[in-house]
Amino acid sequence: MALFGRDKTKDTPAKDATAPAAPKRLIPEDNLPELTKFFDGMQEPVELVVFTDPRQNEPYNSFMETLCRELSEISPKITARFHALDSAEARDHGVDFSPTLLLSPGRCQIRYLGAPLGEEARTLIETIMRLSLAKSGLTQISRQLLQELDEKRHIQVFVNPSCPYCPGQVGNAFRCAVERPDLVAAVCVDSSQHPALADRYHVGSVPHTIINETFSTLGLLPEERFAVELVTLKHAEDLLAEQRAAGIAPGDGQEVVEVDVVVAGAGPAGLTAAMYAVRSGLSAVVLEKSVIGGQVTVTPVVENYPGFATVPGKRLMEMIAEQARAYADIHEGEGIDEVKVGRHIEVYTDKAVYVAKALILATGAAWRKLGAPGEDRYFGFGVSYCSTCDGYLYRGKKAVVVGGGNTALTDALHLKNLGVDVTLVHRRPEFRAEKHLQEALAKTGIPTILGTTVAEILGEESRVTGVRLHDVSDGSEREIPTDAVFVAIGLNPNTAIAQELGLTLDEHGYIVADRAKRTSIPHIYAAGDVTGGSQQIVNAVGDGSTAALSAFEDIAHPYWKKGKTVS
Ligand code: NAP
Repeated sequence: MALFGRDKTKDTPAKDATAPAAPKRLIPEDNLPELTKFFDGMQEPVELVVFTDPRQNEPYNSFMETLCRELSEISPKITARFHALDSAEARDHGVDFSPTLLLSPGRCQIRYLGAPLGEEARTLIETIMRLSLAKSGLTQISRQLLQELDEKRHIQVFVNPSCPYCPGQVGNAFRCAVERPDLVAAVCVDSSQHPALADRYHVGSVPHTIINETFSTLGLLPEERFAVELVTLKHAEDLLAEQRAAGIAPGDGQEVVEVDVVVAGAGPAGLTAAMYAVRSGLSAVVLEKSVIGGQVTVTPVVENYPGFATVPGKRLMEMIAEQARAYADIHEGEGIDEVKVGRHIEVYTDKAVYVAKALILATGAAWRKLGAPGEDRYFGFGVSYCSTCDGYLYRGKKAVVVGGGNTALTDALHLKNLGVDVTLVHRRPEFRAEKHLQEALAKTGIPTILGTTVAEILGEESRVTGVRLHDVSDGSEREIPTDAVFVAIGLNPNTAIAQELGLTLDEHGYIVADRAKRTSIPHIYAAGDVTGGSQQIVNAVGDGSTAALSAFEDIAHPYWKKGKTVS
């Protein structure tokens, strides 16, 4: 739901490149009718209690106050109260940071440390509604899990405004807090507004979740996995291993869903495949183990998608997703555990068993790792593969970007724009990135170290302190200090399902698919980055449509295909 339209909240620079201005009006007039209609469904009143100290953290205080005031003006069921940070009310609630927002503090334990910028504003709106309806929105399984909880949980989710994965993880935490207001307290901490708290917990990558001070996870978790880990304070991998040891098989006791086409992956290829499948007359569901958008979502700017001179990757994917949703159900946070191919294709997830006639694998590709000592050790503590997610944490600090392709140069430019002191390290004397990006890089004056590899990522305790560089031509080595290393050295295809099925892969590990996107197993198709090639968004979109049309031909035997009969 585009409640705030474009992310205007984070696009307006003020004191620094990322702080929002304190606008006269925050919620665009255009969005008011939609929001009013949305809040018409409210039942119980919800109270927004804001604490600020004008001497700290402007313009975020004004942003928080304006947002809450405007929300309260939309519905009589939303009230807003404003208190000073040194008030008795602040002491009573243990509030010591400006700005802080508490949601109906008498009824639940949900708070924001820092104004909810960008996508977090959407989470706020959803949470107001959930509180009002006293409905957490958790799945039945998650609710059952939470009923077993018998001791307190304090969740802190550290986020950044442009991180596409963060709102999902905050949503997980807040839904659990709505479900168990007696035991679960949830806090969304904007690391860019509260760097001191982020530093205290060594947050080097977001979303970073800390439960009861002792248990921590990185990244966005599927909701049920989040609920399991919240209740047990154990990582889900360990619990799954315990379940398997106890003989519980995937699919046991789960809902069976019949559908023509299952699409694995909600990047540009998968979403387009779903649209084309449904437009052909097939039913389709998209299963995405993480969030909609794939790699494009974390691409700061896309400048080569026809029709858009320049568009943030996240925005482009939101538009494609909105269009795809009109056709097919898209299930985020629902990864595929197993696929069985027989008379039908059975796709098992932790939520259901899908019995399908075709499977389109659009599982994309994941960041390639350097393999340098220190890379795993400091992942999440200075080593990052996502400048869009984590760049904010290093404003005013030093960062090294490794790589010479489009991603590395786009990342370096994005970081520089955020105010990071960035250096680019590349193993060859020249870049393979588009000329246009090379020219932009040269203009910014970002220092480049060419013909050089990263031999080791150095650090102490929970933070990166530097890199040891290796000069390829003379073998000499030197260390340079840095607070972060952004690795942007290309992608590896996500082929776990393909490998389990025994699909033919090429020598680089990509799925082999013919021009019609058929793979080596009938009724299984592959599209987008997982098939290699030039890995452009436009190609992924084209692949998605081709795969869906081939699935249609194979399932429906259309009359215009000679020699095929209607079955
Ligand atoms: P890429 O084009 O494959 O470039 C990877 C870079 O990392 C290369 O410069 C490569 O060096 C270097 N590299 C690879 N392995 C390395 C290692 N072990 N150690 C050090 N350096 C290493 O990858 P990408 O930049 O991530 O782009 C992937 C695809 O996405 C490309 O097709 C790209 O065009 C596309 N993309 C598009 C956009 C956009 O449309 N806006 C944005 C980003 C990416 P060598 O040059 O020496 O091989």
